[in-house]
Amino acid sequence: MGKKLLIELMKLRDYEKVPVEGVFKQQGYEHSFKTIRELATFQFTCRKCEKAPCVHACPVEALKKDEQGVISRAMYKCIRCKSCIVICPFGTLVDDLFAAKTSGRKFVNLTGEKDMLEFAKHFPEDVVRVVEMEENPEQHIYELTHQILIREQPWK
Ligand code: SF4
Ligand code: SF4
Repeated sequence: MGKKLLIELMKLRDYEKVPVEGVFKQQGYEHSFKTIRELATFQFTCRKCEKAPCVHACPVEALKKDEQGVISRAMYKCIRCKSCIVICPFGTLVDDLFAAKTSGRKFVNLTGEKDMLEFAKHFPEDVVRVVEMEENPEQHIYELTHQILIREQPWK
Protein backbone atom coordinates (compact mmCIF):
# COMPACT_ATOMS: atom_id res chain seq x y z
CA MET A 1 0.00 0.00 0.00
CA GLY A 2 1.47 3.37 -1.00
CA LYS A 3 1.85 6.39 1.21
CA LYS A 4 -0.92 8.99 1.21
CA LEU A 5 -1.66 12.32 2.82
CA LEU A 6 -4.41 12.38 5.41
CA ILE A 7 -5.82 15.88 5.83
CA GLU A 8 -8.18 16.94 8.59
CA LEU A 9 -10.06 19.37 6.40
CA MET A 10 -11.78 21.41 9.09
CA LYS A 11 -8.48 21.97 10.89
CA LEU A 12 -6.65 22.82 7.68
CA ARG A 13 -9.38 25.27 6.62
CA ASP A 14 -9.24 26.98 10.00
CA TYR A 15 -5.46 26.93 10.19
CA GLU A 16 -4.28 30.43 10.84
CA LYS A 17 -2.13 31.73 7.99
CA VAL A 18 -1.67 28.50 6.04
CA PRO A 19 2.10 28.53 5.33
CA VAL A 20 1.90 26.34 2.28
CA GLU A 21 -0.80 25.26 -0.14
CA GLY A 22 -0.91 21.75 -1.55
CA VAL A 23 -2.02 21.87 -5.19
CA PHE A 24 -2.60 19.52 -8.06
CA LYS A 25 -4.06 19.56 -11.54
CA GLN A 26 -7.76 18.81 -11.48
CA GLN A 27 -9.32 16.94 -14.35
CA GLY A 28 -10.74 19.49 -16.75
CA TYR A 29 -8.37 22.17 -15.48
CA GLU A 30 -5.14 20.84 -16.95
CA HIS A 31 -3.72 24.29 -17.45
CA SER A 32 -4.11 25.49 -13.90
CA PHE A 33 -3.55 24.20 -10.42
CA LYS A 34 -6.23 23.93 -7.78
CA THR A 35 -5.51 23.88 -4.07
CA ILE A 36 -6.43 20.84 -2.04
CA ARG A 37 -8.34 23.09 0.34
CA GLU A 38 -10.53 24.48 -2.42
CA LEU A 39 -11.25 21.16 -4.12
CA ALA A 40 -11.95 19.31 -0.87
CA THR A 41 -14.13 22.12 0.48
CA PHE A 42 -16.36 22.12 -2.60
CA GLN A 43 -16.39 18.32 -2.71
CA PHE A 44 -16.99 17.48 0.95
CA THR A 45 -17.94 20.56 3.01
CA CYS A 46 -20.23 22.46 0.65
CA ARG A 47 -23.89 21.70 1.25
CA LYS A 48 -24.58 21.75 -2.47
CA CYS A 49 -27.45 24.21 -2.12
CA GLU A 50 -30.08 23.68 -4.77
CA LYS A 51 -30.15 27.37 -5.71
CA ALA A 52 -26.42 27.84 -5.06
CA PRO A 53 -26.36 31.52 -4.02
CA CYS A 54 -22.60 31.55 -4.46
CA VAL A 55 -22.96 30.86 -8.19
CA HIS A 56 -25.48 33.68 -8.63
CA ALA A 57 -23.42 36.13 -6.57
CA CYS A 58 -20.38 35.79 -8.77
CA PRO A 59 -20.11 38.87 -11.00
CA VAL A 60 -17.97 37.14 -13.62
CA GLU A 61 -19.67 33.72 -13.83
CA ALA A 62 -16.61 31.96 -12.51
CA LEU A 63 -18.55 29.37 -10.51
CA LYS A 64 -20.51 26.50 -11.94
CA LYS A 65 -22.25 23.47 -10.51
CA ASP A 66 -21.92 20.01 -12.06
CA GLU A 67 -24.55 17.25 -12.24
CA GLN A 68 -23.54 16.02 -8.77
CA GLY A 69 -24.01 19.50 -7.34
CA VAL A 70 -20.27 20.06 -6.90
CA ILE A 71 -19.18 23.66 -7.43
CA SER A 72 -16.00 24.49 -9.30
CA ARG A 73 -14.28 27.80 -9.90
CA ALA A 74 -12.76 28.89 -13.19
CA MET A 75 -9.53 30.45 -11.99
CA TYR A 76 -8.98 32.41 -15.18
CA LYS A 77 -12.31 34.20 -14.64
CA CYS A 78 -12.25 34.68 -10.86
CA ILE A 79 -11.28 38.19 -9.74
CA ARG A 80 -11.21 37.18 -6.03
CA CYS A 81 -13.93 39.65 -5.12
CA LYS A 82 -15.11 37.35 -2.27
CA SER A 83 -18.82 37.84 -3.06
CA CYS A 84 -19.34 34.07 -3.01
CA ILE A 85 -17.57 33.79 0.35
CA VAL A 86 -19.72 36.49 1.88
CA ILE A 87 -23.03 35.16 0.57
CA CYS A 88 -22.58 31.49 1.46
CA PRO A 89 -25.09 31.00 4.30
CA PHE A 90 -23.09 28.17 5.84
CA GLY A 91 -19.65 29.74 6.04
CA THR A 92 -18.33 27.02 3.78
CA LEU A 93 -15.94 29.28 1.94
CA VAL A 94 -13.29 30.73 4.21
CA ASP A 95 -11.71 34.08 3.61
CA ASP A 96 -8.40 33.05 2.07
CA LEU A 97 -9.63 29.98 0.17
CA PHE A 98 -8.83 31.45 -3.22
CA ALA A 99 -5.37 32.81 -2.42
CA ALA A 100 -3.28 33.59 -5.46
CA LYS A 101 0.24 32.38 -6.06
CA THR A 102 1.30 35.99 -5.64
CA SER A 103 0.17 35.94 -2.00
CA GLY A 104 3.69 35.08 -0.87
CA ARG A 105 2.50 31.68 0.29
CA LYS A 106 4.46 28.63 -0.81
CA PHE A 107 2.70 26.25 -3.21
CA VAL A 108 3.67 22.56 -3.41
CA ASN A 109 2.56 20.50 -6.38
CA LEU A 110 1.61 17.17 -4.80
CA THR A 111 2.78 14.68 -7.38
CA GLY A 112 4.73 12.16 -5.30
CA GLU A 113 5.93 11.06 -1.90
CA LYS A 114 8.68 13.68 -1.71
CA ASP A 115 6.12 16.47 -2.25
CA MET A 116 3.73 14.98 0.29
CA LEU A 117 6.46 14.89 2.95
CA GLU A 118 7.47 18.46 2.10
CA PHE A 119 3.86 19.61 2.48
CA ALA A 120 3.15 17.64 5.67
CA LYS A 121 6.22 18.93 7.52
CA HIS A 122 4.63 22.40 7.70
CA PHE A 123 1.70 21.20 9.82
CA PRO A 124 1.11 19.45 13.14
CA GLU A 125 0.25 15.76 12.80
CA ASP A 126 -3.35 16.31 13.81
CA VAL A 127 -3.81 18.54 10.73
CA VAL A 128 -1.80 16.80 7.99
CA ARG A 129 0.08 13.52 8.15
CA VAL A 130 1.45 10.83 5.88
CA VAL A 131 -0.33 7.48 6.28
CA GLU A 132 -0.68 4.08 4.71
CA MET A 133 -4.42 3.47 4.66
CA GLU A 134 -7.46 3.42 2.40
CA GLU A 135 -10.64 5.45 2.24
CA ASN A 136 -12.86 4.67 5.24
CA PRO A 137 -16.29 6.36 5.15
CA GLU A 138 -17.14 4.99 8.62
CA GLN A 139 -14.39 7.22 9.98
CA HIS A 140 -15.37 10.03 7.60
CA ILE A 141 -12.21 9.52 5.57
CA TYR A 142 -12.69 9.98 1.83
CA GLU A 143 -10.46 9.89 -1.20
CA LEU A 144 -9.91 13.19 -2.99
CA THR A 145 -7.22 11.71 -5.24
CA HIS A 146 -5.49 8.34 -5.13
CA GLN A 147 -2.80 10.00 -2.98
CA ILE A 148 -4.89 12.32 -0.83
CA LEU A 149 -7.39 11.36 1.86
CA ILE A 150 -9.67 13.92 3.45
CA ARG A 151 -11.34 13.57 6.82
CA GLU A 152 -14.53 15.59 6.83
CA GLN A 153 -18.14 15.01 7.77
CA PRO A 154 -19.90 15.56 4.44
CA TRP A 155 -23.25 17.27 4.47
CA LYS A 156 -26.07 14.82 3.66
S1 SF4 B 1 -14.29 35.34 -5.46
FE1 SF4 B 1 -14.17 34.62 -7.60
S2 SF4 B 1 -15.62 32.95 -7.71
FE2 SF4 B 1 -16.13 34.11 -5.87
S3 SF4 B 1 -17.70 35.59 -6.50
FE3 SF4 B 1 -15.72 36.61 -6.69
S4 SF4 B 1 -15.07 36.27 -8.79
FE4 SF4 B 1 -16.70 34.80 -8.37
S1 SF4 C 1 -23.72 28.76 -1.00
FE1 SF4 C 1 -22.10 27.74 0.18
S2 SF4 C 1 -22.93 25.75 0.80
FE2 SF4 C 1 -24.27 26.59 -0.82
S3 SF4 C 1 -23.51 25.72 -2.75
FE3 SF4 C 1 -22.45 27.66 -2.46
S4 SF4 C 1 -20.56 27.19 -1.34
FE4 SF4 C 1 -21.92 25.44 -1.17
